[in-house]
Amino acid sequence: MGTMRAAVVDAYDGKFRIQNVHLDAPRDHEVLVEVRAVGLCHSDLHVAEGNIPFPLPIVLGHEVSGVVIEAGPGVSTLSPGDHVVGSLLQTCRACRACKEGRSYQCENPDSTVRAAGDRPRLSRDGVILSQGYGLGGFAERVLAHENQLAKVPDRLPFPQAALLGCGVATGVGAAVNTAAVRPGDTVVVIGAGGVGLNVVSGARLCGAARIVVVDLQQRKLELALAFGATDTINPSEVDAEAAVLKATGGGADHVFEVIGLKSTSEQAVRMARRGGAAYLIGLHKPGTKIEIDALGDLIRGQKRIQGVYMGSSRIERDIPLHADLYLQGRLNLDNLISGEIRLDQINDAYDELRKGSVTRSVITSF
Ligand SMILES: [Zn+2]
Ligand SMILES: [Zn+2]
Repeated sequence: MGTMRAAVVDAYDGKFRIQNVHLDAPRDHEVLVEVRAVGLCHSDLHVAEGNIPFPLPIVLGHEVSGVVIEAGPGVSTLSPGDHVVGSLLQTCRACRACKEGRSYQCENPDSTVRAAGDRPRLSRDGVILSQGYGLGGFAERVLAHENQLAKVPDRLPFPQAALLGCGVATGVGAAVNTAAVRPGDTVVVIGAGGVGLNVVSGARLCGAARIVVVDLQQRKLELALAFGATDTINPSEVDAEAAVLKATGGGADHVFEVIGLKSTSEQAVRMARRGGAAYLIGLHKPGTKIEIDALGDLIRGQKRIQGVYMGSSRIERDIPLHADLYLQGRLNLDNLISGEIRLDQINDAYDELRKGSVTRSVITSF
């Protein structure tokens, strides 16, 4: 509540400006959180550069962890002092999809944000500020719906916690929830960025026999080994498709595309074994079409193609689970973090990300 510092995007120029903004008081089912860590995700940069449309000005930042300061009326799941992780998954917990356990397909995602025309959660000199994905974490405090927050153990470090709501949920969830990889299965991951590394973690948790990672950058392939990859393939050195077919004995049970390109998506289908599946996770440019060999791959090959959103996650179940797995030493979060920075270093840190930095900078001081 009251005035606080936040990083505001005023134009689609990819620049963040540190300013004083106003945060409203919690209303029904809203929770006020003191932000302790927030990760610099690539998708916030896409918004700041105008590639994903959102009304400006806006406060972004959706990989948030912190401590509950105040719980508004009707909040049943959280109390002051609780450590929480935010998620951009907006769910109503009341529609048919939510009730059937598929909250990642919620029919009323806008139920977690205030209606247009209502008093805004965030404003600056009386002007409405958009709140990125219902969170707005590049700030000292966040006012969010309780359905976008999950409680985590107090001893989980805040920077590691911040990553659980986005890249970890997406990557680990794709292997565990969407694909339901079984012990002994073979897995291919195309693209070893922040999400791809978490797909590797998920496949390892499921007991995959082989986890083959494909990437053009050697340092990403080396990092993938620290997450549990068993084989790495660099397409600049070898024919990736032939190498995958060899490593998996004729094609993989599960192939995850985590780049978002037509060529690698089509390749993912070809890399699957007969009866196997390709999972498309990487965000494609709007309007992209992919071509599939209907007879060879779909009918004779009996392959499935599945699009994945947010790792088919149920945040109230998956975020605490991933927190526990980390605390038990069974989920690698430490190697995802490159360093801790201050809020006013956000532009420099995003410049690093533009240059192709693999791991995350996390803001821990405001
Ligand atoms: Zn993210
Ligand atoms: Zn719903």
